[in-house]
Amino acid sequence: MPAIPDATIDEVRAASDLVDVVSDRVRLKKQGKNYMGLCPFHNEKSPSFSVDAAQNLYYCFGCRRGGDVFKFVEEVEGVGFLDAVRLLADRAGIALPEEGGGEEADRRGTLLAALRFAAGFYFDQLKQPAGERAVAYLKERGFTKEAVVAFGIGAAPDSWDALATAAETAGFKPDVLEAVGLVKSRQGGEGRNPSGHYDVFRDRLMFPILSPIGKVLGFGGRILPDTKTGSDDYTPAKYVNSPETEVYHKGRVLYGMKQAKRAIRTEREAIIVEGYADVVSLWQEGVRNVVAASGTALTRDQVRSLAKIGVERLTFVLDPDEAGVNAALKGVDVALQEGVSPYGLILPPKEEGGAARDPDVFIQDEGLPGWKSHLSENRLNFIEMILRAQKLFTDQYSTPEGTSRAVQYLADRVASIQDEVAAESYYRFLTLELSEMGVDEVVVRNQIGKEYNKRFASRSAVTSRPSEQAPPRRPAPPPPDPDEDAAPPPPVVTVRPEEMALLRLMLTHGTAMVEHVLTRMGVDEFTEGPPRQAVEAILAQFEAGGAGAPAVDPAPFVRGEYGDAVRGLVAESLSERNPLSENWKGKVGVAPKGRDDDPFASATSAMRLLKLDRVQEAIERAMREMQVRERGGEPIDDLQQTVNDLNELRRQIERDEFLTWGE
Ligand SMILES: [Zn+2]
Repeated sequence: MPAIPDATIDEVRAASDLVDVVSDRVRLKKQGKNYMGLCPFHNEKSPSFSVDAAQNLYYCFGCRRGGDVFKFVEEVEGVGFLDAVRLLADRAGIALPEEGGGEEADRRGTLLAALRFAAGFYFDQLKQPAGERAVAYLKERGFTKEAVVAFGIGAAPDSWDALATAAETAGFKPDVLEAVGLVKSRQGGEGRNPSGHYDVFRDRLMFPILSPIGKVLGFGGRILPDTKTGSDDYTPAKYVNSPETEVYHKGRVLYGMKQAKRAIRTEREAIIVEGYADVVSLWQEGVRNVVAASGTALTRDQVRSLAKIGVERLTFVLDPDEAGVNAALKGVDVALQEGVSPYGLILPPKEEGGAARDPDVFIQDEGLPGWKSHLSENRLNFIEMILRAQKLFTDQYSTPEGTSRAVQYLADRVASIQDEVAAESYYRFLTLELSEMGVDEVVVRNQIGKEYNKRFASRSAVTSRPSEQAPPRRPAPPPPDPDEDAAPPPPVVTVRPEEMALLRLMLTHGTAMVEHVLTRMGVDEFTEGPPRQAVEAILAQFEAGGAGAPAVDPAPFVRGEYGDAVRGLVAESLSERNPLSENWKGKVGVAPKGRDDDPFASATSAMRLLKLDRVQEAIERAMREMQVRERGGEPIDDLQQTVNDLNELRRQIERDEFLTWGE
């Protein structure tokens, strides 16, 4: 449900020129009526991303993504529709009702406002006496002013109720502050303000956790080095993080995403580190594509949000402790499941035999050039990474059982790679690697072979017809992950150029054109799948509008209201690069009119060709059936009659008699 009025959305759309918005990200070159550039969504060397300025639509001929200005911002920023509207409204200087519309949105808006207030409060403390120790610590760690500002780093004062009191004075209700995890309530006792609340974050360096477009969702608070440990047995934790709240879902947010997303998009790689401070240190030294999960292993949602903005490679920087390595290995599994290639990076000690370094220390020692060359020379593929990690903490390969377990673990992962070519090369790599380590090659091949057989067996079960399927093996395969929204790949639909032309003409030449086409074409004459769905949607709009209704509205199509496949098809039909005339030449000698010189004549010509194709298909079907029957000695008289009728129909179509059918 949009929380922003439709009229405002239209206003934002009108104010957001797609060419302009795309140009923030992609260098566009004018080509005829359109603009072309390198696609921001997939890796390419020659431009296949086109923007139709007149229609305000984009389409990529490489990855087939397309849509309107909102869809573009959604995809490129990795945000939802409403955030895309907000972002474009900001850009155009259009004021939106503050998270307006509906109680739920109001509530969310209030919570976000409280978090924003807190971030401002903590940031301001750096200029106050209460923030002096935090400033000293930032200097000692070598954080630059630019980085502190870019990440909005602040300080929570050494006080029980500084934030609670300031926020309440500013008008935030205690229950709101409590709902976002900033304060807790306490009955009686010390350390509470008049309303009975105390601050959760005290005497800490504060890292705000931002959404991809910069909304404050929560905080990570790091202890300052000389924090009092308290008089009793109270020992403060090194890190205190915001709890899960209505607005902060740890598994969906990546720390540093707002600052990193542009670089991630360009480099198609994200560096995954563990700590907030690591993100900031790398960023300020020039490693801009770096993010951190919030103290856990990377989740599926997090990997997807990265994949959405084009990440093809995830490089996990391994912290030299077991917990860190285990978290990275979990992340590797998620990446493999999501089709993103995982890599690992181990940062060596400064001197041989010294302590392994954190990213923070490494980049300060080696600088950006040192980082870059280490990354490019020592990036480990996930098999090397797992082998190194396993050897770091255990001696897996000293016993036959250990070897078998380790090989099984690796084989499972290779088998989970979706991309056939990649799987094949990892398979070879693993075999080689393990045999070099002295693990018996036969054992390795057997183990991996087993995984491979399993995999291919399950594949052929999917593609074969039910009657050919073997009875289900025990144990039954696990039920599909409810979180898994990836549909099976759609069947390949061969869309005819004439259909594309008819779609475009109906979408751009108003009601009269829809009538011209749909009174002469049956919906079932369009190819089953997206083309027919698109025509059905046009017909539904046409019928709902009644006589004298305005033109068909392409907006719901490009917004994806009829599904992604229809959206892509419509966007493609609307773009200029449909080499219509070339395709039509040589077809039954009918030369089409120049594109849109006479749109009705173009439509007639497209209908004629489409109908002729359908008749031809029917004739071929009948002929095949005839052959079958002749072999079986059955009569074929009725089929001969059908073919004669179809041939007559073909002659009528060639004479354009269908234009007057039914009149
Ligand atoms: Zn593309």
